[in-house]
Amino acid sequence: MITEDGRRPDYLRLSVTDRCNLRCIYCMPPDGVPRVGHDDLLTLEQTARLVGDIHSILGLRRIRITGGEPLVRKGVAGLISILPPGPEITMTTNGLLLCETAAELARNGLSRVNISLDSLRDDVLRAVTRRETSLGAVERGIRCAVEAGLGPVKVNCVVLRGVNDDELSRMVEWGAGMGVHVRFIEHMPLADGNPVRETVLRDEIAGLAGGGSPGRVIGTEETWTRGDGLSFGIIAPVSGNLCRDCRRVRLTARGVFMPCLSGVGKVDLRPLVLSGAGREDIVRRVIGAVNLKPERGDCRSLPMWRIGG
Ligand code: SAM
Ligand code: SF4
Repeated sequence: MITEDGRRPDYLRLSVTDRCNLRCIYCMPPDGVPRVGHDDLLTLEQTARLVGDIHSILGLRRIRITGGEPLVRKGVAGLISILPPGPEITMTTNGLLLCETAAELARNGLSRVNISLDSLRDDVLRAVTRRETSLGAVERGIRCAVEAGLGPVKVNCVVLRGVNDDELSRMVEWGAGMGVHVRFIEHMPLADGNPVRETVLRDEIAGLAGGGSPGRVIGTEETWTRGDGLSFGIIAPVSGNLCRDCRRVRLTARGVFMPCLSGVGKVDLRPLVLSGAGREDIVRRVIGAVNLKPERGDCRSLPMWRIGG
């Protein structure tokens, strides 16, 4: 489907849970998230059915499974095996549960993972995630993913002023040693009860990561090559205009379809599923929502743990 303004949304970010085993200071409110009963979530079968309906109209090229932390949702590997055939299936995860799950995820059709890691220092990791995490634990997850065939792995790092902005260059070198591609994300300040910090923007991130020259922006990422030949990515939701070429739509774990991260045009599909609505009804609502995808969305008001980043 091509929208009325000529964009082609063919990339679905599929959130399978609001819950997480971490409490990152830029994502989760300090006291965690309100507990959602299983009755408020789509079942895995309902999720697969809705994704099938969405795919039938949008012709999805890629589905990225996210959360919350997708690997805390029981049965997520099984979900992969019942998603519609065709689109590439990838996942964004904090990596901590990958050693238990990577082989089954790969067997069931997951092709690649992106893993979040914000520091190489354990004390900083513990402060950012508000949990007992460590670099070693995330490195183990990366190795398990690669062994299972879920590479090449990309590592996402949210840059936080005064917290991890002094280690970007070292992270690029660490990434080269681990055989992963590190991408730095501009911190999006959200109305989530966390301290608001001044965002470190693209140009400053590039300098802190070792400089060099930028290549083209592909998808949301601008890839930089340093003088020493090492490369890194920058994702700039704050200083860049990612909306212009945005091909993303989202389905939350509660069944809300969102044509834009800002929430404009969102439609709750779960009541339709529960009332036994047919494919035509769902498809009509999806088309209506996609046509409301704004040219530029204001993404400051929605929590990441609910919509999956
Ligand atoms: N739990 C998984 C993880 O952390 O990779 C998947 C869900 S998380 C919401 C998806 C992505 O959103 C992560 O890479 C995370 O770093 C990013 N993210 C969360 N809050 C953010 C914020 N305020 N600004 C920029 N990126 C953010
Ligand atoms: Fe959990 Fe990911 Fe949010 Fe961190 S960024 S709290 S790992 S959902």
